[in-house]
Amino acid sequence: MSKQPKTPVQKNEIVEVTIEDMTHEGAGVAKVNGYALFIPKAIPGERVKIKVVKANKGYGFGRLLEHLEMSADRVEPPCPIYHQCGGCQLQHMSYESQLKVKQKQVKDVLERIGKVTDVTVHPTMGMSDPWRYRNKAQVPVADREGGLVAGFYQERSHEIIDMEECLIQQQANDDVVQAVKKIAQENGLRGYDEKSHRGTLRHVVARYGLMTGEVMVVLVTRTEELPNKQRIVEQIQAQLPKVKSIVQNINSKRTNVIFGEKTKVLWGEEYIYDSIGDVKFAISARSFYQVNPKQTKVLYDKALEYANLSGSEQVIDAYCGIGTISLFLAQKAKHVYGVEIVPEAIDDAKRNAKLNHITNATFAVGEAEKVIPWWHAQGIRADVIVVDPPRKGCDEALLKTIIAMKPKRVVYVSCNPATLARDLRMLEDGGFKTQEVQPVDMFPHTSHVETVVWLVRN
Ligand code: SAH
Repeated sequence: MSKQPKTPVQKNEIVEVTIEDMTHEGAGVAKVNGYALFIPKAIPGERVKIKVVKANKGYGFGRLLEHLEMSADRVEPPCPIYHQCGGCQLQHMSYESQLKVKQKQVKDVLERIGKVTDVTVHPTMGMSDPWRYRNKAQVPVADREGGLVAGFYQERSHEIIDMEECLIQQQANDDVVQAVKKIAQENGLRGYDEKSHRGTLRHVVARYGLMTGEVMVVLVTRTEELPNKQRIVEQIQAQLPKVKSIVQNINSKRTNVIFGEKTKVLWGEEYIYDSIGDVKFAISARSFYQVNPKQTKVLYDKALEYANLSGSEQVIDAYCGIGTISLFLAQKAKHVYGVEIVPEAIDDAKRNAKLNHITNATFAVGEAEKVIPWWHAQGIRADVIVVDPPRKGCDEALLKTIIAMKPKRVVYVSCNPATLARDLRMLEDGGFKTQEVQPVDMFPHTSHVETVVWLVRN
């Protein structure tokens, strides 16, 4: 017989605990004799009865059975499928308390990981109306008895649950998904089946330009052949007057990746447009573009304020994507150099520069940690360096180059406080001082938090 590991609680045990903290995924944390239990949807301060569902060596998981004391921050989640969907993690908390929790998470992690203690972490900048903000919906489709379903994958499975609306999605996108589901059904399209790799329609993707009201519909199909194509296109046009672009993307692979390589315009334009502040953006089916443009403006305004440009500065924008921040900064800088690893994103950045008649921005494809040292060696200098890396943070070689280039200011935009904290430590040790930290809520009701940090050289 194998030895039972000695944990303070065992699987299936029912215990009463007090929630002391919250994970970055939004779960409550309780301790039993120092042993951490993670309890989804429990809120700090609550006293709860739980069932232990998993007891690993170092930590365990519990399921909330009953409240003994309920937090004043708790609210009834407005979405009827909140508990099945998993797309949102914080709808059971008031929006005000979500913003406070995000501020605290940033502050705690900067102290714990980055040892950055003597700095102001401002209250999270939130939305006045934190609903229906997403400008892109990507919804998987499948066949069920009784017809097509389009919705989300049930937690820990690949079973698609049909969805009528998503409360964080722009209404226009919800309208597209519902209408296209019906139109596809009426025209005899089969939903894609992962197991047998059969069926036609894999995903319905809807994109919305907040400032223009333009809508794009993307039908992601397994085959190039699309039965009743003409009728489908006509019905979409007739039922959804805001649609400016209908495209088909073909993904014939067995994969979880949504898009395939080939995209065909079925009707209308290849692009829809949106703008952030005074800068206009062309968005194609596969372009990366910020999903909450209203808060993106708030974030970029903060970045611009921290960059403190007078018009004479040379600026580097590392991890520039489609050049959103670069073009925003170019309006106030002498010259901006943007670098990004995805070639298509750089094509978009150049197109967007032209679209806005911006001539003082240069874009390069490559790894930031290779291109920027090369620029440095070529004698390019930077007064301000902006970085906006993916979740894993900045490459160490890039941080070393920033330290060597000695810009006056660094503006760090981060989607992961833990790697931000690690990188701030290195920048501080290399001669920079963190001035201000501003969390911005780009994704209300989810556990994500975005942060802008202002550093100056000592
Ligand atoms: N600043 C942009 C996008 C930030 S997302 C915006 O605000 O819209 C981070 C970007 O970094 C992605 O576009 C990703 O493709 C890119 N990236 C990832 N690793 C990289 C690397 N090593 N060098 C340059 N870019 C990279």
